[in-house]
Amino acid sequence: MSKTPTNPASGCDSQQVGGLITVDEALQQIRNAISPIAGFERCSLRDGYNRIVAESVTSPINVPAYINSAMDGYAVNGNDLPAQGERQLQVIGTAFAGIPFEGRLQSGQAVRIMTGAVVPDGADTVIMQEQAERDGDTLTIRNGHKPGENVRGIGEDIAIGGVVLAPGKKIRGAELGLLASLGIAEVSVRRRLRVATFSTGDELCSIGDTPKAGQIYDSNRYSLYGMLRALNVEHIDMGVIPDDPDAISNAFATAAGIADVLITSGGVSVGDADYVKQTLDRLGKVNFWKIRMKPGKPLAFGQLDKAVFFGLPGNPVSVMATFYQIVQPSLRYLMGQDTTVPVRLRVRTAEGLKKQPGRQDFQRGILERDDKGELVVRSTGPQGSHILSSMSLANCFIVLAAESGPVAAGEWVEVEPFEGLF
Ligand code: AMP
Ligand code: MG
Repeated sequence: MSKTPTNPASGCDSQQVGGLITVDEALQQIRNAISPIAGFERCSLRDGYNRIVAESVTSPINVPAYINSAMDGYAVNGNDLPAQGERQLQVIGTAFAGIPFEGRLQSGQAVRIMTGAVVPDGADTVIMQEQAERDGDTLTIRNGHKPGENVRGIGEDIAIGGVVLAPGKKIRGAELGLLASLGIAEVSVRRRLRVATFSTGDELCSIGDTPKAGQIYDSNRYSLYGMLRALNVEHIDMGVIPDDPDAISNAFATAAGIADVLITSGGVSVGDADYVKQTLDRLGKVNFWKIRMKPGKPLAFGQLDKAVFFGLPGNPVSVMATFYQIVQPSLRYLMGQDTTVPVRLRVRTAEGLKKQPGRQDFQRGILERDDKGELVVRSTGPQGSHILSSMSLANCFIVLAAESGPVAAGEWVEVEPFEGLF
């Protein structure tokens, strides 16, 4: 979970500046306070998708299990390769993938062979068909070949007994294929993390209801649903809790009894109806932080019984920025997943970016190619923490160091793409 920015300026110092801590310091403090969940379960291969490996998987076989051809061509013996000029060999049969050639090659003989077919006894080399000439049963090969070429050796991919998946690995398509290549039908994975969420706010109206004067629809509930779903956790959606200390206490108690993690939105700031902070002070062990990031300054982190607690701010973009920068890496750690390095690229900004020195900015950007084919980034437009459309328009965060002021068009900036290939 160590988020080591490649831009040293964005790492900031280890001092609290004006009572604010950096994103990296918050991540480190959270990591020091939590440990991965212990439980695990066995599941079938397909159900293992997007889960975290709990126990090492070792290979019961060699892959490849036998010497086979990497090409369509001709299997020959390396001793028959001409040192110069050319040589004629006699083709005595065919080896298909799945249908081996049963005989044995003698000197001067060759076998027509397809990709993946067992290399027959007496052969150790495959000549690509494009590099040989065939006329009836006569094959002509020229000099310039190396003994052993185009042959896949036993255990070249995976050796018997070798560790193929270590604990902490997230299972994706490659891992499913790898396990299948070993004939493994079940895998031991960490149990899913149970994450409860609720939104706080008297102004929140659930979709399906008609908003009264001064009410807004609860969007955080749904952005959190989407972000958690991508992590494949067990999500317990507790809906909306009003700005009422008793209601919040009850919801905390319920969540602590059923979840490993509770994430709330709203009510952690300094407003008169911000009860999350006070309630937590009474019921649990809590740190309230002002994080040196924008959007998303106020954030609560703590322990509520055995549950880990994250109190996110209320503004919809702040919820998403703090989730991706702070909560998501922490949840991955809790799930037992290996530490991943945040992927940040340096690209030029196609336009000027507003910025005041003070906090690390996570502006919403659109990464694209300019007419020369170079990656450049531009802003999605207004960057207020209530402008949720900026998150939807964006395909990356533009990560600007705390100390940075305004950025001129053409300058280098760091971006963190939303999408990876896997
Ligand atoms: P708070 O942190 O509770 O003061 O909320 C800050 C801002 O975020 C206010 O404008 C709230 O109306 C808004 N807000 C809080 N919770 C939500 C939510 N679940 N969905 C949409 N907006 C919200
Ligand atoms: Mg509120």
